[in-house]
Amino acid sequence: TRQITLEDYPAGMPAPEHFGHRTVDLPDPQDGEVLIRVLWMSVDPYMRGRMRPNVKSYIPPFQKGEPLDGGAVGQVIKSKDPKFAEGDFVVGFAGGWRDHHVGPASAYTKVDPNLAPLSAYLGVLGMPGLTAWVGLSQIIKPKEGEVLYVSGAAGAVGSLACQLGKHYGMTVMGSAGSAEKVEWLEKEAGVDKAFNYKEHDVVSLTKAISEIAPKGVDGYFENVGGMQLEAILNTVAFGGRMAFCGMISGYNNDKPEPGPSNLINIVGRGVMIQGFIVSNYMNLVPQFAAEVAPLLAAGKVKFEETIYEGLDKAPDAFIGLFRGENFGKAVVKIAEP
Ligand code: NDP
Repeated sequence: TRQITLEDYPAGMPAPEHFGHRTVDLPDPQDGEVLIRVLWMSVDPYMRGRMRPNVKSYIPPFQKGEPLDGGAVGQVIKSKDPKFAEGDFVVGFAGGWRDHHVGPASAYTKVDPNLAPLSAYLGVLGMPGLTAWVGLSQIIKPKEGEVLYVSGAAGAVGSLACQLGKHYGMTVMGSAGSAEKVEWLEKEAGVDKAFNYKEHDVVSLTKAISEIAPKGVDGYFENVGGMQLEAILNTVAFGGRMAFCGMISGYNNDKPEPGPSNLINIVGRGVMIQGFIVSNYMNLVPQFAAEVAPLLAAGKVKFEETIYEGLDKAPDAFIGLFRGENFGKAVVKIAEP
């Protein structure tokens, strides 16, 4: 199998020279294992966190010179587990950044290619979709008529968070980094007002949010951090809830940025902030699927994908996340079924 390796830990923005590749022979699957042919792999912002040595996190760092790993959709070629038969399509958190993989069958779940395109199991029906649903339904707990602000709104997580916000009857604002994304959010995703954050500073964004939500923002879905968090702290309503999902604007920083000067507003406004890691909510997958799959099937939820063709494009796909190259979910197509 061919595997993409991490050649060096990036300082700042990751670049092509931080990645390499190698070809290795795979062992035959043992009892309880499967051999899969990888069809699609995911690139995700959290992988940047694994490219730092010696950082204590909920997930261990990648090793220098070793292959990267991550979410993938594949087809079972050999199965030594009764759970899967040859030809089954599966999704799992292992098997990315390579074209074949041998691993425990327990890491995989069977997926139905007739229900949705296979790549959707890495996006709207997969980990990012579950993340959006958890942040909204379990943490923000929307009430009809409330105001939601989603940063990183045109990405994999954000685009579903916005549409679920509308589904729950909220007024939704979202922010993204290009005019094209802003247009998609307002015209396709049904967002009431979208902002290009690159055209704003804290003062102008605070003013713009207040014009849409004079009584304040009730729910904040945090994907980005930095300036936008500061603007939200200026505009958050009494009793607001903030789901802290990620803060991508800081992922390539060598030193942490100084915090917002208005953090104290959390106190006076009785704001509830909660961080969450989607992997702690896997027990809710059936509830997520029962709610979101029908919305998707009915065309009530739209999703975009940016597809990179071929395993060798995986590093570009990953780097593109930090340049805003992706529209919706960034995925790499490795092979046809
Ligand atoms: P996206 O599909 O949203 O891709 C990343 C996007 O982030 C880019 O397209 C870009 O869009 C934006 N971005 C990149 N750099 C910056 C910056 N400096 N400032 C503002 N925006 C930036 O990724 P995901 O949907 O997969 O992830 C979104 C967030 O959710 C991330 O913070 C991620 O870490 C987090 N996450 C957390 C999980 C959890 O369990 N807590 C699980 C999954 C994701 P633009 O053009 O708008 O700049």
